[in-house]
Amino acid sequence: MDPFDAERYSRQVRFPPLGPEGQAKLSAGRVAVVGCGALGSVVTLALARAGIGYLRLIDRDVPEISNLPRQVLFDDADVRAGLPKSVAAARQLERVHSGTVLEPLVADLTAATSDRLLSGVDLVVDGSDSFETRFIINEFSCSRGIPWVHGGAIGAEGRVLTILPGRTACLRCLIPDPPAFGALPTCETAGVLGTAALVVGAVEANEAIRLLAGDRVGLGNRLFVCDLWAGQWRTIDLGPLAVEGCPTCRGGDFPWLEGRTGCQVARICGRDAVQIASAGAGVDLDRLGRRLAEVATVTTNAWMLRAEVEPGIVLSVFADGRSLVAGTRDETRARAIVARYVG
Ligand SMILES: [Zn+2]
Repeated sequence: MDPFDAERYSRQVRFPPLGPEGQAKLSAGRVAVVGCGALGSVVTLALARAGIGYLRLIDRDVPEISNLPRQVLFDDADVRAGLPKSVAAARQLERVHSGTVLEPLVADLTAATSDRLLSGVDLVVDGSDSFETRFIINEFSCSRGIPWVHGGAIGAEGRVLTILPGRTACLRCLIPDPPAFGALPTCETAGVLGTAALVVGAVEANEAIRLLAGDRVGLGNRLFVCDLWAGQWRTIDLGPLAVEGCPTCRGGDFPWLEGRTGCQVARICGRDAVQIASAGAGVDLDRLGRRLAEVATVTTNAWMLRAEVEPGIVLSVFADGRSLVAGTRDETRARAIVARYVG
């Protein structure tokens, strides 16, 4: 370690479980962070400051004013500049720690892009906002033997799970059947506190640091959950799940990665609209309509609901699971809008 770095990291190196050997492993570590929003902001800031050698920043979106209470990498100037989040994030992180190699990618993680976006790293950290993205990460991780850290925050609640493929419970062990399209609240409909994102992002980053440093004792098989508003913190032992014959981590079944489940995106010819068809069960329109009514005026009938969720963007969701995003031809933006408001 050169003298400058020795001084820079002197306090964390003095922490015995890390030490100089652990710090050297962090310097050599390569991490992909999927999503540079609320969780990704905290994770990347913590990892860059801890001295991780390489960070790949993957995001499909641009910063918006409503992001600023929790997406701590960005400020008002970033919203005005309209740069993609991954690029704006890299500029900020470069100021935080110029020694970390940063690779910002303006990209949408899908089954088709997963190989290009997630290969060549030691681990993947979840900063995403959709279950589809998380299941793709999970299957990529299990198929390649690459650890990943799952995290999520909504309202004042959060959860984190570290997955060591083949050794611990994976996301499908925990959630055998992905939630039906539109069945769960999202940050747009249920709200989210910046403090919850700070806690979850910090726990995810800590798990990543332990993984890179090689301290795996007690990692995995523990679901961390917290409710900051209720003042509750606990870990749930998932050990029994890990031996129950999960089709993905034990059986090598990868339906999301192989395109047998998930969304199909199609631009509608001659219209500013993109259709996103979700495989599987239909949508409970009444429940989704009640949630969307928190943020937009919703009209509903037996077959569909319709809401102008953002200026100029009309979202229609059909009972069979299709969504139509009118007001854009950009498939990536349409996927982001559906993830944001439907889930
Ligand atoms: Zn599993």
